[in-house]
Amino acid sequence: MIDHATIERILDAAEISDVVSDFVTLRKRGVNMLGLCPFHNEKTPSFTVSPAKGIFKCFGCGKGGNSVNFIMEHENLTYPEALKWLAKKYHIEVVEHEETEEQKQINDERESLMIVSGFAQKYFTRFLWEENEGRTIGLSYFRERSFRDDTLKKFEVGFAPDGKTPFTEAAQKEGYKIDFLEKTGLTIKRDDWIRDRFAGRVMFPIHNIAGRVIAFGGRILKDDKTAAKYLNSPESEIYHKSKVLYGIFQAKREISKTDKCYLVEGYTDVLSMHQAGIENVVASSGTALTPDQIRLVKRFTPNITIIYDGDAAGIKASLRGIDLVLEEGMNVKVLLLPNGEDPDSFAKKMGASGFQGYIKENEIDFIQFKTRLLLKETENDPIAKARLISDVIRSVSVIPDTITRSVYIRECSKLLNVNEEVLYAEVHKQKRKQNDDFAKIELREQTRKAPPQPVIPVKESDAGFAEEELVFLRFLLKHCNTPLFELESENPNETELIKVGEFMIDELEKDELISENILFQKIFNGIKENLENSTFDPWRYFIYHPDGEISKLATDLLSEKFVESNIWKKGGGYTEAEEDILDLLVPKVINEYKARKIKEMLPAIEEEINIAFQNNDFEKVIDEQSKYMNLKRVEKDLSNKLGNRTII
Ligand SMILES: [Zn+2]
Repeated sequence: MIDHATIERILDAAEISDVVSDFVTLRKRGVNMLGLCPFHNEKTPSFTVSPAKGIFKCFGCGKGGNSVNFIMEHENLTYPEALKWLAKKYHIEVVEHEETEEQKQINDERESLMIVSGFAQKYFTRFLWEENEGRTIGLSYFRERSFRDDTLKKFEVGFAPDGKTPFTEAAQKEGYKIDFLEKTGLTIKRDDWIRDRFAGRVMFPIHNIAGRVIAFGGRILKDDKTAAKYLNSPESEIYHKSKVLYGIFQAKREISKTDKCYLVEGYTDVLSMHQAGIENVVASSGTALTPDQIRLVKRFTPNITIIYDGDAAGIKASLRGIDLVLEEGMNVKVLLLPNGEDPDSFAKKMGASGFQGYIKENEIDFIQFKTRLLLKETENDPIAKARLISDVIRSVSVIPDTITRSVYIRECSKLLNVNEEVLYAEVHKQKRKQNDDFAKIELREQTRKAPPQPVIPVKESDAGFAEEELVFLRFLLKHCNTPLFELESENPNETELIKVGEFMIDELEKDELISENILFQKIFNGIKENLENSTFDPWRYFIYHPDGEISKLATDLLSEKFVESNIWKKGGGYTEAEEDILDLLVPKVINEYKARKIKEMLPAIEEEINIAFQNNDFEKVIDEQSKYMNLKRVEKDLSNKLGNRTII
């Protein structure tokens, strides 16, 4: 947490036109300033800055806010990250409070490790460009592979001198402690000897999302059969391999601008694609894609295209991992390069427009890709085909969105030549398998006790539901009768017990943020009406509800794993049982829901502002703008409550 006084100082210093001018050329226009919007492509400026009000507003794409919002948007940072960014610009020391001694020590250590890594990067880079050894070995390697200087500088590549400890000695001479050199893995230290880990390698620094160096990858150039071709920094306090994507810092702006991210394998693939003008690209650096890495991409876009070079064995090995990406609700496409090409060679051969053209024509949907790939092997083999079907269906069944799922089922039904109903049945079977045991037992119990109900056919549709709404409903359904906290009443000997359901319903009614979705309202009101009813069993009531759509939704909510897992992951992995930390989770669920609702409402207000602006109705503009800022403030409040979601 940054303390309040510091935030005030930052906000005072960060004059809007000064902040924006770092990125946009502004011209004075009356009391305001005008420029080309950095958030959408435009030829006539509609991006307005009002120094008097301290806000910016684009009348083209609708983006707007204060200087912190601008940096958040432009640099893709969270609120606290943006504050720190501004603090740095205005040389304001950031005092973070409410740190325990232990936390402080950890933070100090992290900071020290980052400082050492930053020093190392500068050292290696300088060595590459200025020292004879660096130029003749390192730089000539990059030049041979036709990397341009601007590309090399953008990624801050370097060269580590060969020898036992030239780097370690240089670092120590500059006052860096051996302890930190060892912890970052730059130096290897044993009882009786030390040596440089990366000696004689070209160096690829790995940046975190805010652009600080946290680790390195080094490629050996000598013909040494005993040494690994690529060597990476070991895990450290600042570097967790599974949470980092190479190139994310250089790519993030382009990823959110193009609403798409390419995933490749190696460092040089990333460099080559940048050089070819495709900048929305990251690499998993050899590891299989992890859920944390996917979430990192998801911060900027739900659309990911995985680029493979045509090695079938490698592709098959990676298929399983991609189910994880689907599970996160991402849209996954696959691009297969021609035989013998990798992104590096292909980008060089084709150039920017050639490569982009190839992507456009050849990227295909992941499940289609997987189905086709595996289908080839199952010709005339019914058993293999059955296995393939259940394999493909497993991929389909983890997709959270029902609509997307049904599109895939239709698709697969054609490709596999299998009836859609059969596939639906199979998906449901798979989904049941994924349910947690508790829900399974509970459902079985319910089925046994409940009288049979006529089945009302429902269409597969939960369109219009945001994830936050579904999570909210699930908590409401599952925990509405659980006591949440005690409220002191007028009589000191008595306390009033507030139940989860009561609290959740009150919170939405108070802020008038109840969803417009009819199904949401039906469940919401159904629970509200039964709050006082002590024998009310929401499970049975909704799962066996005569309205087929309600019963289906309730069943999905109470059995689907994804709803639970997503809220978990956002908080950074709780290990406790949900029931045990309801006091923590329920407010979080409510706040996430509210934040989402507000986010949905903002564009409508923006639209109002735009219309009023065009009609020269400035009273209305101001009116709507204050509404807008107010919602923004509530939203900001909420996002602070929701905690820092920085991923490093
Ligand atoms: Zn704009």
